[in-house]
Amino acid sequence: MRTAVFPGSFDPMTIGHKALLKKALPLFDRIIVAVGINQQKKPFFALDARLERIRHALLDMPQVEVESYDCLTTDFCRAKQAAFILRGVRDTTDFEYERRIADINRIIAPDIETVMLFADPQYAAISSTMIRELASFGKDVSMYIV
Ligand code: ADP
Repeated sequence: MRTAVFPGSFDPMTIGHKALLKKALPLFDRIIVAVGINQQKKPFFALDARLERIRHALLDMPQVEVESYDCLTTDFCRAKQAAFILRGVRDTTDFEYERRIADINRIIAPDIETVMLFADPQYAAISSTMIRELASFGKDVSMYIV
C-alpha cells in the first residue's frame, strides 16, 4: 500500500490544491489530506467547517482521506504508515520554501520521501492567501474554493 500525506493549512482548500491531488492519484494507493492545526495562528475558516467542506469536495476521489493533525508532519506520516509527503510547487518561491522543508524532514525522517508536483500554469497564481485577502474585502471567491 503506497500512502502519501498531503499536508497543509488548506485555509481554504483551493481548486489548485484539488488539481494537484488529481495529478497525484495515479502515483499512490491512498492519499491523506492532512489539515494542520496551528495553535499560534487563528484560521480564517474554522477547522470543522473546513474539514467538512474539504471532505465533501473530495467525495469523487475515494482513495483520498481527510484528517486534521497537530504534531510534526513526519510523526503523522509514521502514525499513518505513509512513506511519502506530497507537496505542490507553483514558482521559484515555493520551490525554495518546499526544498527547505523537505531538507528538514529528510534529516528527521530519512525514510519518508517528499514528492513535489508542479502546478499546472492555470492554477499557479491561486493561493489560499490570495483568496483570504479577496474574501476579507468582500469579493466573491467561490470560483477558487473547492
Ligand atoms: P502551507 O501553509 O503548509 O504552505 P497550503 O495549504 O498553503 O499549506 O499549501 C499546501 C501545499 O499545496 C503546499 O505545498 C503548496 O505549495 C501547495 N499549493 C498551494 N496552492 C497550490 C496551487 N494553486 N497549485 C499547486 N499546489 C499548490
